[in-house]
Amino acid sequence: LKVTEKPGIISFAGGLPSSKTFPVAEFEAACAKVLTDDPAGALQYAASEGYGPLRELVAAQLKAQSAAAGVTWKVDPAQVLITTGSQQGLDLVAKILIDKDSKVLVESPTYLGAVMAFTPMEPNVVSVASDDEGLDIADLRDKSKDARFLYVLPNFQNPTGRSMTEARRAALSAEAARSGLPIMEDNPYGDLWFEQAPPAPLTARNPEGGIYLGSFSKVLAPGLRMGFIVAPKAVYPKLLQAKQAADLHSPGFNQRLIFEVMQNGFLDRHVPTIRALYKSQRDAMLEALAKHFPESQGPHAANADSTFTWNTPAGGMFLWARLPAGMNAVDLLPHAVDKGVAFVPGAPFYAGNADARSMRLSFVTPSVEEIHRGVAALAQAIHAQRS
Ligand code: PMP
Repeated sequence: LKVTEKPGIISFAGGLPSSKTFPVAEFEAACAKVLTDDPAGALQYAASEGYGPLRELVAAQLKAQSAAAGVTWKVDPAQVLITTGSQQGLDLVAKILIDKDSKVLVESPTYLGAVMAFTPMEPNVVSVASDDEGLDIADLRDKSKDARFLYVLPNFQNPTGRSMTEARRAALSAEAARSGLPIMEDNPYGDLWFEQAPPAPLTARNPEGGIYLGSFSKVLAPGLRMGFIVAPKAVYPKLLQAKQAADLHSPGFNQRLIFEVMQNGFLDRHVPTIRALYKSQRDAMLEALAKHFPESQGPHAANADSTFTWNTPAGGMFLWARLPAGMNAVDLLPHAVDKGVAFVPGAPFYAGNADARSMRLSFVTPSVEEIHRGVAALAQAIHAQRS
């Protein structure tokens, strides 16, 4: 990331939400209200489980979202653990479920920050083949024996932006129930859909068989470091113990701010504005890519090996692209930076065999004008390296 922070560089590398989406006025009002109404509660040590009204709000929201997707999920607020970002959720789950050499299954590619959270426990991280529709169920079946859990991002995945189809979700749920494989479902991007809401969460289909991680970072603000875990009642006490050891509790002040901002349906008004912004940014990137790589006919076309190709994410913050055969994204990066644009090479996101041609392009932080200039610079760098 250091290289990409050089002044003047257009960065498609960052994983940051657009700061234009932060509801500053709402947080300002919430700060005043929290400090007036309950200063002692907000500034005192508090319960490790989290702020009660926020846990209730999270449970109600998950119930409503799954009902809208056609699945009944009876989330009890007692199953909700407020965490310091969902990154802490990954860390806590890793601590309670992984021993040295435990087998942990991940998608291919997967979120690097999750693998980083698992690594101190020294697991054997095994990647399961994945395609545009999600996880390859036959490969999962081959690899799931004795696995501690499967870590999966069904919605607008980081790094690829892809989503798991309803058919794959149903097949994965059935397979996990058959084999008893626990699922850790990470869903920080699910609300950021462009055309239609995603299918119901995996955990909603089999609540006893999984742990669900959520985040307020992408719908409100990452700086507050607020997320949550929904865990089966049998697992919850262990997670709570790990949470107490980690930081006693997540900041009570921040939890109240999130609650104040969210109550009365603020997200129903706010999140559509984020979706509209990110969709217009995605469209700008697709348009610029089509303009600067006119020979490309898509990742599955007959000429895909001889052209630059990319997918069309239906939500989230990232697009996944692939260089022509013979090129390597790590080698290309310094040349792209010389031309004024940065991206994240895809290789580090793979736990197993890496696709050295892949790269992640974030479309949410640069302006539309910068997206056009950045893609032009990327095209120049690629064409210069090929010739
Ligand atoms: N999971 C995924 C897939 C992510 O992309 C991120 C943030 N980049 C996180 C978890 C952590 O998010 P936070 O701690 O801000 O909730």
